[in-house]
Amino acid sequence: MSPRIVRTVAELRAALAPHRASSIGFVPTMGALHEGHLSLLRAARDENAVVVLSIFVNPTQFGEAADLDAYPRTEASDVALAGGAGTDLIFAPSEGEMYPAGFATTVSVGGAITGTLEGALRGRSHFDGVATVVSKLLLAVQPDRAYFGAKDAQQVVVVRRMVADLGIPVEIITCPTSRDADGLARSSRNTRLSPTERELAAAIPRSLRASRDAFASGIRDPRRLAATVREHLAAAELEPEYVEVVDADSLEPIAQVEGPALLALAVRVGPVRLIDNVVLVPGVTDPLPLAPTDRSHP
Ligand code: AMP
Repeated sequence: MSPRIVRTVAELRAALAPHRASSIGFVPTMGALHEGHLSLLRAARDENAVVVLSIFVNPTQFGEAADLDAYPRTEASDVALAGGAGTDLIFAPSEGEMYPAGFATTVSVGGAITGTLEGALRGRSHFDGVATVVSKLLLAVQPDRAYFGAKDAQQVVVVRRMVADLGIPVEIITCPTSRDADGLARSSRNTRLSPTERELAAAIPRSLRASRDAFASGIRDPRRLAATVREHLAAAELEPEYVEVVDADSLEPIAQVEGPALLALAVRVGPVRLIDNVVLVPGVTDPLPLAPTDRSHP
């Protein structure tokens, strides 16, 4: 059945009121849905009585106006795809509904987790935008569980911190990165890659796989693990904005990989900025498989 679409917080609350006694699963997105989003919706479907999807291209988390303008908006097909993945209700507010005149509050998560990686490149304001919109969405939906993708690893760390610090009563669930056949992490921005750029971008998962293999063979020096990634990207003439190996929880730099580490990168391919990562866990050979995922292998 086609999911119902609501555009205001009042309509959303009214639609969810009869379901408060049952479990509500929530998947926040910016739309242009792909298999990665659908894997989150299916996880929510498996674990909750009611599944809510939000579609809102949040202007405050974009640094470049051009990126915001170019962000794909495909609501009609999003509704059909979301329905196929078992979504009950779609919250698709206008900018005015989310940020009415006079809006003046920012939720800002401090410390290393927002100052490094994406925060260092895009500025903390990116995560201010994310934290503010996610807290507003969580307050509007008041779900039991909210689902986020491991592809945006730093975002998950920031959201978990915010939820713990503000005492928001929701369980945050991280779902594995969904990948295409060439290993590239699925992203709404991938549609803007030309066929040639798409081939070059396949060097990203190759580079992560090579670094993961180096890790499996016993290399624990973050600089060597990052160098392996850089070499593979250079072979495709890609120069990353950053490649870093940090503690997976604190996102602080590490001298040696001794506990779970996050190897994260950002790289521009043609007009698009792509991010990807792998978690390296000592003693675990393949903590985060980099194989392609599809419906049958989420
Ligand atoms: P976005 O619409 O890009 O803001 O993403 C909405 C949610 O989907 C975020 O929690 C993302 O981490 C998640 N997501 C995006 N791409 C993927 C992917 N390839 N695999 C898993 N989750 C993803």
